[in-house]
Amino acid sequence: AIEVRNLHKCYGDNEVLKGIDFHVDAGQVVCVIGPSGSGKSTLLRCVNRLEEPTSGQVIIEGIDITDENTDLDAVRSRIGMVFQQFNLFPHMSVLRNLTIAQQRVKKRSKDEAVAIAKANLEKVGLLGKADAYPAHLSGGQQQRVAIARALSMNPDMMLFDEPTSALDPELVGDVLQVMKDLAAEGMTMMVVTHEMGFAREVGDKLVFMDGGVIVEEGDPRQVLGNPQHERTQAFLSKVL
Ligand code: ATP
Ligand code: MG
Repeated sequence: AIEVRNLHKCYGDNEVLKGIDFHVDAGQVVCVIGPSGSGKSTLLRCVNRLEEPTSGQVIIEGIDITDENTDLDAVRSRIGMVFQQFNLFPHMSVLRNLTIAQQRVKKRSKDEAVAIAKANLEKVGLLGKADAYPAHLSGGQQQRVAIARALSMNPDMMLFDEPTSALDPELVGDVLQVMKDLAAEGMTMMVVTHEMGFAREVGDKLVFMDGGVIVEEGDPRQVLGNPQHERTQAFLSKVL
């Protein structure tokens, strides 16, 4: 589970998160929407401390990761992250992309890492591409490899930052399907997305951010179908 308490983040004089409180319970899928610059990525990056919060707390499975005594690597290894840009290692095969961190960080044997990698490639429908290089895959395939790579570290939760925004429209569906399958398996997920259909269908909760605050949150059908706040209404009228 993820719990965020009164989180603030400033870049110089620019306060981009202005007191965020929210939680993702174990097995929940929480989707985050909002206009460009509203602080969605910053929030996600604060959750695994890729970004240092200015104040407030982030509690992962009961451990306060903003506490200076916390073993950040240990906590981070439990959080998988998938970005808009796939960030695969271009000079390594798909299989090597999935095994390298398992061997180096998890200290798994090569055989074990390969077995886990192959199981995850199968899960995302790309076992046949194990020996291919990233440049020879479509964007959607690369993103599914990125998801399989994150899963190979056996995370307790997954963070997604607009995982389909860089994809051609016809490639979006396969990636969303992989995420949907993950959700159905009970993975705890926090997903920044513009895919309102996914949020409605798969999300347990929808959070609307604007200007560094959570303006509105609740059941996705409720928020999308009957937004209470005028800022939510204005945003949705542009994107729906
Ligand atoms: P988008 O939908 O475009 O991805 P977002 O909601 O993810 O937007 P953020 O990337 O979190 O927004 O950015 C929030 C604000 O913080 C923006 O005003 C941005 O310019 C600023 N910001 C983000 N990262 C930095 C940084 N490293 N240094 C300074 N300002 C930053
Ligand atoms: Mg962003």
